[in-house]
Amino acid sequence: MESVIVAIDGPSGTGKSSTSRAVAAALGLSYLDTGAQYRAITWWMTSNGVDVQDPAAIATAAAKPAIVSGTDPANPTITVDGVDVTGPIRTPDVTSKVSAVSAVPEVRARITELQRSIASSAATGIVVEGRDIGTTVLPDADLKIFLTASPEARAARRSGELKGTDVAATKEALVKRDAADSSRKTSPLAKADDAVEVDTTDLTLEQVIECVVTLVEERRCATENTENTENTEKPAAR
Ligand code: C5P
Repeated sequence: MESVIVAIDGPSGTGKSSTSRAVAAALGLSYLDTGAQYRAITWWMTSNGVDVQDPAAIATAAAKPAIVSGTDPANPTITVDGVDVTGPIRTPDVTSKVSAVSAVPEVRARITELQRSIASSAATGIVVEGRDIGTTVLPDADLKIFLTASPEARAARRSGELKGTDVAATKEALVKRDAADSSRKTSPLAKADDAVEVDTTDLTLEQVIECVVTLVEERRCATENTENTENTEKPAAR
């Protein structure tokens, strides 16, 4: 079976992480949460006294932290300078600062390079989730998915995950973060022209997973058929 690269993009609360992990696990692929990498560098900036409102200071520090992502979908890990930051990167403080840090071009260049290197070394293939994977990080991905959902559905899911936080406040924070991520100059949140859009508003997580697994399998079949046809059409060696 050929190695396959799947890019899954979309705004927050569309089920990207749960879907990507489950699809990777079902198909025996690696999994990379690129949002966790941007959260990790944001955590490092705040822990080291870098003002997140100062893009020049962020740019200067961007190369300093060593960020390592574990890509097993059953147990995705993330460390910064050897420290496990799985918990700390999910705090409201990091969530409120991550868009400012991830908008800095030097941060994006550094993290993009890391992402490409991880994707190219995944033996059986990888599911990479984020905001700019199909457009910028892996424009040659075998399959690109763009997940969407209404802001109401996204806010309801997020506040469920955050154990009953106020839905209206969650919606406001989420819409604000998406606006910042979509309007930044360097590789904004965007759907690639050749991405398949899946609206998850009225779908269960299981339905979304099934839909994406089917799309990956169809793409693999199409690729294998093309390769077989090419092989049969080759003129016999003399
Ligand atoms: O997916 P998650 O909500 O953890 O992403 C956190 C933040 O990381 C996003 O709001 C965005 O600012 C940034 N991000 C990004 N590009 C990606 C993935 C995440 O800019 N590919």
